[in-house]
Amino acid sequence: MSKRPLRIGLSARIYHPQPGATGLQSKSLQYLEQSVAHWVMSREVMVLMIPSVSGDGMVHRSSIRLSDYPQYLDGLVLQGGADISPQSYGEEPLHHDWRGDRLRDTYEMELLHEFMEAGKPVLGICRGAQLINVALGGTLYQDIPSQYENATTHLHDDYDKFCHQVEWESGSSLARLYPAINGGGVVSIHHQAVKALGRGLRVEARSPGDGLIEAIRLEGKSYVVGLQWHPEFHPPGNSHLLDCTPILDEFLSIARGRRW
Ligand code: MN
Repeated sequence: MSKRPLRIGLSARIYHPQPGATGLQSKSLQYLEQSVAHWVMSREVMVLMIPSVSGDGMVHRSSIRLSDYPQYLDGLVLQGGADISPQSYGEEPLHHDWRGDRLRDTYEMELLHEFMEAGKPVLGICRGAQLINVALGGTLYQDIPSQYENATTHLHDDYDKFCHQVEWESGSSLARLYPAINGGGVVSIHHQAVKALGRGLRVEARSPGDGLIEAIRLEGKSYVVGLQWHPEFHPPGNSHLLDCTPILDEFLSIARGRRW
């Protein structure tokens, strides 16, 4: 087996220039939030961000294709960030602020399908979990507080610290991965959530207070997992938060098995 380090691709967050912006902020920016890169890099892994090739750039899609990336990379992590556009699942936004980012949706759905096609594992975080669901034909609540009755708190100003419990669904792979516990505390901040499940997906974990879906996984051979929470915001050794290294290690061990 090859000794080279694993190479994991990270989808880009996209900043779209606002009218009137000057300098760097007048440009399209593609970036990563360092916690997620550092979380993946906590094992022997090289992390490479995959820029979108659509948008207002000069690269023509005919010359660089996203389908070239799975040949070079061993797995894909879909970062958190902006809302999914309701248009990506056949709805119109019910509020101006819930328009989401259609451009990023298109780019990440293409990436997801290319990695799935190549049989390489995909881990979606927060928005990434929602993206997986929508890419496979599922839908989302556009806004939990106004569309989901008796919802508990899933959104908080304390962005990287607000935590709530999740519970494993019985028979799920999370239940198998953590045989000694039936869930844990997670940093979960979102106002959208999985509504109808996409094709072939099953529920892995829910928020016990209101039953909202907090983790999903594709049935079958491909490893495609979405976590509504942010494992990268769980400091090691924090007894109130779920230790997510078993999830990272499972993802990486599958990536290692598919490495060529
Ligand atoms: Mn939540």
